[in-house]
Amino acid sequence: MPREIVYIGFGSNLDNRLDFCDRAVTLLSLLPHTQMTGVSSLYETEPLPEHSPGPGWFLNGVVRLETDLTPRSLLDVCREVEKSLGRDPDHRDGPRTLDLDILLYGTRVINEPGLIVPHPRLHLRRFVLEPLAELAPDLRHPLLNKMVRELLAQLTDRSAVRLLDPQPSSRYGSRPSCSPAATARDSA
Ligand code: ADP
Ligand code: MG
Repeated sequence: MPREIVYIGFGSNLDNRLDFCDRAVTLLSLLPHTQMTGVSSLYETEPLPEHSPGPGWFLNGVVRLETDLTPRSLLDVCREVEKSLGRDPDHRDGPRTLDLDILLYGTRVINEPGLIVPHPRLHLRRFVLEPLAELAPDLRHPLLNKMVRELLAQLTDRSAVRLLDPQPSSRYGSRPSCSPAATARDSA
């Protein structure tokens, strides 16, 4: 299995969402046969009006992995991480402790039961495209044949997506990286 470059989106809208996102990133960075080669900034994003699970704003970001894991194993891992961080599989539309989506897996196009890659809504969501564009603005969507920054420019999703301020200070250093200041602000 050749090594592939994969992008995974994460999001959480519970009170301690910063902690959930941080744990998710940490767990993904520890996967076997995998290196984490990029982590976006964190973004605060307005819940989409049509189907907003829970009341609060989301925290979203994207990581880049280089991995030998198959798409299916990666999906299983994402499910395990969601489960270990408390997402209730019977109430997928309830408040989200953590959501993990495989956005892109190399240039592969996958359409299987339970696994669609590129993620079918990636090009419609500002909260995915903003952090993805930070890591890979020139990356081409293998089906739409447009670069991430082009998808972002043509987006009709007007929901607010803003950089979390301040960013947790030590995201690239030792974990856990939730500074008390960021946490206090986060739950204010
Ligand atoms: P969304 O993330 O689109 O808001 P959910 O997380 O509730 O919605 O959807 C989860 C379902 O989507 C799972 O059952 C999973 O099998 C399926 N799925 C299909 N393609 C993907 C993908 N690329 N990444 C993650 N889940 C996917
Ligand atoms: Mg999902």
